[in-house]
Amino acid sequence: MTQRHYLTDSFVTRFEATIVESLDHEGRHAVILDATYFYPTGGGQPNDTGTINGIPVLDVLTRPHDLAVVHVLKSALPTGPAHAEVNWRRRFDHMQQHTGQHILTQAFVTTVNAATVGFHLSPDTVTIDLDNAVDISQIQQAERLANEVVFSGLAVTAREIPRGELEGVRIRRIPEHVTGDTLRVISVGDFDHTACGGTHVANSGQIGLIKVIRADRKAGKTRIEFRCGTRALEDYSQRLDITQALTSQLSTGLAELAESVTRLQDDLKAQQRQRNTLAGELLHYKVAELLSSAETRGDTRIVTFADDSYSVAEMRQLAKQLTEQPGVVALLGIPGDRSNVLVMASAGSAVDARAVLDAVLGVLGGRGGGSSAMAQGGGVPADIDSLRRALSAAVDSITS
Ligand SMILES: [Zn+2]
Repeated sequence: MTQRHYLTDSFVTRFEATIVESLDHEGRHAVILDATYFYPTGGGQPNDTGTINGIPVLDVLTRPHDLAVVHVLKSALPTGPAHAEVNWRRRFDHMQQHTGQHILTQAFVTTVNAATVGFHLSPDTVTIDLDNAVDISQIQQAERLANEVVFSGLAVTAREIPRGELEGVRIRRIPEHVTGDTLRVISVGDFDHTACGGTHVANSGQIGLIKVIRADRKAGKTRIEFRCGTRALEDYSQRLDITQALTSQLSTGLAELAESVTRLQDDLKAQQRQRNTLAGELLHYKVAELLSSAETRGDTRIVTFADDSYSVAEMRQLAKQLTEQPGVVALLGIPGDRSNVLVMASAGSAVDARAVLDAVLGVLGGRGGGSSAMAQGGGVPADIDSLRRALSAAVDSITS
């Protein structure tokens, strides 16, 4: 079993050791040291990275059968002396997030009696799952207490308690399956005592800040997303960049930003309403204009019209209004990479919209279908001239 020195000192990042085994771990090069400061993935905390004799350490894990710490390497190393370096930036980040989690978890117990039932730490997120639905003011209460603990600069210590002496010791959580003769208990001053095998800061002040950034309530539980230390600082910087860009674009202050966006949205809605009213009026004139220039076959007036500035919905609206008049057949088109053709006939018309559409598509190409009153098709690239030619050709197929 590898000696795990990170348990006694989380701050050592360069050390000398001996490679006692060089092995193949699931197709990858790996080594086992007699003693290590590399943390293997476990307890919700990801592994350390770094180098051994200059070779990158890609993964660190515990071998189940003998609890040896396996260091997965980018390339092979022989047994013998080793100089190792732990990626301190990553390690310290994990120490800040993890110790912050202990404190935040205890803060939720103290303030609102909500227990943590899950913990997740990845490069992108840190979350705890609470066994209770907590509201914003309760979260603020716990967050305030957690930061008071940070600002108090309490000592964070680890002690090994023999299994037989656990009774009467105040511990927030004891793992279900205690292996070994002792239990490692991490204390943050007298604020929190919990069993844990991870790496922690030495003083709560080293966490810097604990900031909750999101809460999701679901089925009586709450997932709390938070940032500690450097991650909180980076998060603050990112939010500052965004709000500064927005306040500058909108020529407003941070405090008025939300109000400014609401006002913009209201303006936009008012303009959209106005635009819809104007479009309706315009459509009315368009209908009159198209009907006046319609081609007449007996009792049927045939309207052909193509325009790329219309949307499909607008074209449909136009067709609907045209055919509200008796004896009208409308052949409408929108040119483009995926052209659209719409044929609509007034109620009671003898003209079959599907047959007319087939005549258009016979020239234009593409596919479509519908009913005798309305048919739609196209889908092939067509410019306005070829679309007009196809519509005209179809007019000839309509007999009075
Ligand atoms: Zn821990």
